[in-house]
Amino acid sequence: MNLFIFSEDLRIRDNKALYEASLEQKGLIALYIINKGKNEEHGDSLAKLKLKLLALAEIRNPLVSLNIPIKVLHSQDIRDEPKEILGFCKKHQITNIFLNSEYPFNEKQRNKKLETLCNKNDINLRMFDSQLIDPKKVKNNSGQPFKVFTPYSKKIRVLLTTEILQEEPEPLKQIRKITDEDDIPSFKDTYDEEFNFSIDNHPVTEKSASKRLEEFVETSISNYKELRDIPSLSSTSNLSSSFAIGLITSKQAINQVFSSSDGTGTGQFAWVNEIIWREFYKYITYHYPHVSKGKSFNPKYDLFSWREDEDSFIKWCEGKTGIPIVDAAMRQLNQTKWMHNRLRMITAMFLSKNLLVDWRKGERYFMENLIDGDFCSNNGGWQWSASTGVDASPYFRIFNPITQSEKFDPDGKFIKNFVPELIECPSNEIHNPSIETRSSLNYPEMIVDLKSSRLRAIDAFKSIK
Ligand SMILES: Cc1cc2nc3c(=O)[nH]c(=O)nc-3n(C[C@H](O)[C@H](O)[C@H](O)COP(=O)(O)OP(=O)(O)OC[C@H]3O[C@@H](n4cnc5c(N)ncnc54)[C@H](O)[C@@H]3O)c2cc1C
Repeated sequence: MNLFIFSEDLRIRDNKALYEASLEQKGLIALYIINKGKNEEHGDSLAKLKLKLLALAEIRNPLVSLNIPIKVLHSQDIRDEPKEILGFCKKHQITNIFLNSEYPFNEKQRNKKLETLCNKNDINLRMFDSQLIDPKKVKNNSGQPFKVFTPYSKKIRVLLTTEILQEEPEPLKQIRKITDEDDIPSFKDTYDEEFNFSIDNHPVTEKSASKRLEEFVETSISNYKELRDIPSLSSTSNLSSSFAIGLITSKQAINQVFSSSDGTGTGQFAWVNEIIWREFYKYITYHYPHVSKGKSFNPKYDLFSWREDEDSFIKWCEGKTGIPIVDAAMRQLNQTKWMHNRLRMITAMFLSKNLLVDWRKGERYFMENLIDGDFCSNNGGWQWSASTGVDASPYFRIFNPITQSEKFDPDGKFIKNFVPELIECPSNEIHNPSIETRSSLNYPEMIVDLKSSRLRAIDAFKSIK
């Protein structure tokens, strides 16, 4: 009997490990592990956990029609998973395990331990690479892993042959039918709490994710480069939650782009670049495991003295900093569990530079709230903004949130949508209301002076040799 273990790959199509597990058709179980201890340790958001359970419930029927039942295993600690999986295998006479690889440290350790246990117990473990191109195979001219995005992306584009872009076939129907399957638990039963958040804006099936992908490529991609930075528009794909839980793959996304164009249009090129950024951060996590141990990519910044300023941190989290664009962005995150990319950069830079608060606190807060929380992209985005990361923004190039706001939300439409106190704010003050306007609208003063805090950050970074 074969076992496929789900990771962030809740799909049937283009799923290498699931397909390989199905080939013998001699009986296959799909296992989903609910691990509340791991969720807590990693700060997984309730929104993402809810989306995953809904997606699991949706994938159940198509799997059952292939005679592949879903079983659910409850665990409390990722370090316990290997022996619990082994126990499961013994109970169900499993002789082969199939899974798609994951790159963060804890997941890699789990799979390594599982491999050792399998070897000792005559179980065959087969792990498949889940990236567009196996990270081991992508090196620079000196045979080293890349550390800079542009040459990495050029190399990836060269390697994207028709063969590499070939998607995996759907799994084969199993001849042996196993009727013993588990119910998919409800969110409330699993996490002991209600989470009244509407998931309507996010696909829960691979079919709906593919439809969104198709529509985006048909109607919006050509304007992507010009409009992608305007948060009041819905001009990006909004597919990040689908990528994060694995409803769709980078391969499918790129194939969709190439199905209707040669991919060289400015919008098409820019969008594929973002897919490659996603791949890049996974690649970095694979090659530089210290980033998933809470370390800066650039070790010299591990010596940095971040400011202890809980009060400002809380105001940042709540969207009460007195900087309209930052507050609107944080409230977008708190209310919708998603944030526009330009705003992720503005808020992350404001926290790590103007407030000089440890970027790891912001990274955790994002993870705890984002429906698309993805360790590699989130860590990469935070370290980019904090200038501690791979190919990061130089420490002296600090965004001024007010200038950013003027540029990307010129009429304050986005701000007014998320900061109702400012609906009546005169338009010439929307990015930085006067003291009188703030007072009359009951909107707080800025928690930090942008000019002096910028200089303070530059001095602090400069002092790290
Ligand atoms: C501080 C910070 C934290 C972030 N945290 C996450 C996170 O936890 N999860 C996450 O998926 N993305 C994260 N991003 C990247 C990016 O903000 C989101 O992927 C994007 O906003 C999602 O919107 P979209 O699906 O409409 O993207 P589109 O613009 O349509 O892009 C298509 C896809 O490309 C990928 N992508 C786009 N931009 C990036 C990027 N800069 N880095 C890596 N992948 C990218 C995403 O999978 C996205 O769905 C973060 C960025 C920053 C600066």
